[in-house]
Amino acid sequence: MSVDKARHAVVLHYSEIGLKGKNRRLFEERLVKNLRLALRGLGHWRIERAYGRFVMHLPDPADWAPISARLRKVVGLANFALAETVPQTPEAIIEAACRQMARRQFASFAVYTRRVQKEFPLTSMELSSEAGRRIQEQSGARVDLDHADVTCFIEIFDRQAIVYTEKIPGLRGLPIGTGERALGLLSSGIDSPVACWKVMRRGVKMNFVHFHSMPYTSEASLNNTRRLVELLTPYQFTSKLYSVPFIEIQQQVMATARPEYGVVLYRRSMIRIAEKIARKLRANALVTGESIGQVASQTLSNIRAIADPATLPILRPLVGSAKEEIIAVAREIGSYEISTEPYEDCCSLFIPKHPVTRALPEIILDAEMKLDLEKLERQALEAAQVEQFRFP
Ligand code: ATP
Ligand code: MG
Repeated sequence: MSVDKARHAVVLHYSEIGLKGKNRRLFEERLVKNLRLALRGLGHWRIERAYGRFVMHLPDPADWAPISARLRKVVGLANFALAETVPQTPEAIIEAACRQMARRQFASFAVYTRRVQKEFPLTSMELSSEAGRRIQEQSGARVDLDHADVTCFIEIFDRQAIVYTEKIPGLRGLPIGTGERALGLLSSGIDSPVACWKVMRRGVKMNFVHFHSMPYTSEASLNNTRRLVELLTPYQFTSKLYSVPFIEIQQQVMATARPEYGVVLYRRSMIRIAEKIARKLRANALVTGESIGQVASQTLSNIRAIADPATLPILRPLVGSAKEEIIAVAREIGSYEISTEPYEDCCSLFIPKHPVTRALPEIILDAEMKLDLEKLERQALEAAQVEQFRFP
């Protein structure tokens, strides 16, 4: 059989899903559904569930590049590979292993066999060492089980055998849609997109809210936020972005409250408005990019003061992360470039020179009493715009 005539399949291994006991089936079904959504427009797929993995039959291996790009964004996959499928005989498998390895460059290699079909004439060890001997003859490379340049993977299950050498790491986590819904407070800064992404990776479907100060600021911060939502949408296929005009609240707060309390007061309004949107979306939590001590509004006292109006839980996945760690994730997911583009944050206009680090509840309540925040927040909410994002 020539390489071109060989039959191919994509083998996908999933991550924590296997630990879910009775819910396992629900998680698997969701993952299959997400795989179909991710591959929309790239052909029709037969996805088989086979002993803790999925096998997708691929009509034409030339299509692999766009497919693997999409699979890299499917949350819940441990790894995946384009594999050759062969009849379940030792000779056919070993030939396929030699054929696959002939296309790779290596000085050391390993063969790793997993076998579900116990009727197979050789044990996993026997098959690995026989295939290894033949690959060694063919390539002259040495076997190194711990630090192989290239590993040849053989899997035998369900009357099938598959062979592959390029295992692509998946995103891991849990399939999006298995973890209910949350609403992310998305600024166009570095932290909040990373925070939302981390929650998405736990299977939670996110929607987003952004507070802007237009026309006082340009549309740049809203546009950057749109780009961030566009970046996050391929992982979950659809997203909603609520953009809420916030200038009126900021102006009124600045006109009446002590300037050092400005940020804490804005954030409390943001939380109250976000919570109304969350309830409408039947989201069970809010998500922010807060990280202890990173800025003045993120001391424990202020985190507490800001969270005080909330009745939904506020998830802060970055609470214990160092800034460099957050930046590393931002670079990985591609949000860093968007977040670091120059723009005026909604609050940068109205940021006091010396923000309070230990906001006192009595001063906050006193400031809020002087304002008709209920009305201002209702008006902001009524003026909110919703945008839909879709992928692909
Ligand atoms: P980020 O990098 O996410 O902007 P930050 O370090 O600037 O965060 P803060 O300005 O204190 O920190 O904001 C804390 C969190 O409040 C943000 O991570 C985000 O979740 C939310 N937030 C702040 N500003 C806005 C905004 N304009 N719209 C929506 N959410 C916001
Ligand atoms: Mg910010």
